[in-house]
Amino acid sequence: MSKNKEFKIYEVVLSQLEEAANELNLDPQVRALLKEPMRTLIVSIPVRMDDGGIRVFKGFRCQHNDVLGPTKGGIRFHPQVEMEEVEALAAWMTFKCALVGIPYGGAKGGVLCNPKEMSKTELEKLSRRFIQALEPIIGPEKDIPAPDVYTDAQVMSWFMDEFSKIKGVYSPGLVTGKPRILGGSYGRDSATARGLMYVTREGAKKIGLDLEGATVVIQGYGNAGSFSGIFLRELGCKVIAANDSSGGVYNPDGLNAEKLRDFKNENGELQGYPGSVKNISNKELLALECDILVPAALENQINKENVGNINAKIIAEAANGPTTPEADRVLNKGGTLVIPDILANAGGVTVSYFEWVQNLYNYYWDREEVDQKLEKVMVSAFNRTNEMAEERGVTFRTAAYMVAINRLTEAMAARGWVEL
Ligand code: GLU
Repeated sequence: MSKNKEFKIYEVVLSQLEEAANELNLDPQVRALLKEPMRTLIVSIPVRMDDGGIRVFKGFRCQHNDVLGPTKGGIRFHPQVEMEEVEALAAWMTFKCALVGIPYGGAKGGVLCNPKEMSKTELEKLSRRFIQALEPIIGPEKDIPAPDVYTDAQVMSWFMDEFSKIKGVYSPGLVTGKPRILGGSYGRDSATARGLMYVTREGAKKIGLDLEGATVVIQGYGNAGSFSGIFLRELGCKVIAANDSSGGVYNPDGLNAEKLRDFKNENGELQGYPGSVKNISNKELLALECDILVPAALENQINKENVGNINAKIIAEAANGPTTPEADRVLNKGGTLVIPDILANAGGVTVSYFEWVQNLYNYYWDREEVDQKLEKVMVSAFNRTNEMAEERGVTFRTAAYMVAINRLTEAMAARGWVEL
């Protein structure tokens, strides 16, 4: 599951945008505004490490477009983060928020580091210094970070605490994905997967796939991947394989998604998972015949080299950008329903929005309320996408972009950014 350095991820965004923009005959001014990120801040973050030496980490925050509201998006800590990647991820957030109809623009952040090799103290120092560096451009009404790859509720707590100290004001609305004691929402930790479960259920209805006993393969067993396994299993599906960067496990009779998650939480990786499983490589995992494939790792995982081996009826993209445009074309031609990232994983940012709303009015909802509201948002985004796809004869991804772009265009025109 390594990254292909030759691959230009922002070009994926541009190609997806182009396809939808052509289909909409989109105004060139809107097109130009959506093509470029509004702002990217590059920072250097000095941290005194446990050995006494100073290490300087590189970090980025990109705000892609804020026509619909303050920008929103996660921050990842990863050893291979690049500015261009953060910009692509920020653009996806713009389209994702517009598609599900929440009042945010898109942003994303990243710090080049390997949290697996850092102590908790080092991570805390890095988190706090990063927020100091971003402070001028973030805030509950400007830009609201959240968890992403290798960041969690603890990192969000440090972000929030540091910002609150700088401002002298308790500011839970600065970030989402916090623990509940600090204003986190019920269901935020599993929201990406819960949303994915709702749209996968709708997708299965669309193609007439019976979920009872339907086979599921999960690439990447972090937060989104593991909860996806657990929720899809609740719908009657059978998780037959999963992996992470340490390796993969396969059992055609089905794996216990919850036990797998607990094992990973305790051991930090899936390797060594006991029981009757066969160990498989990432390549083998992606080539397994299954009903539902959930790529929940990094970008560019389903590409022209391996797409020929993919054998799934539905691909539900839990990760951002897991499928390259070439692979996407092959899959759609072959009749696979690809539920694109901006729809499939939008549950995360949707419950982030709920969390932020609760923070701003200081009144908290119960779990049922969060889940019900999420289901409504996800099902209606699925239906809007489906209607567009059927009406215009386009793929689900292009349809999702078209719905999003229509909203962005309307807002740009209303705000006087463009004249239509
Ligand atoms: N990092 C998540 C995403 O890519 C969540 C962003 C958020 O909650 O703001 O959608």
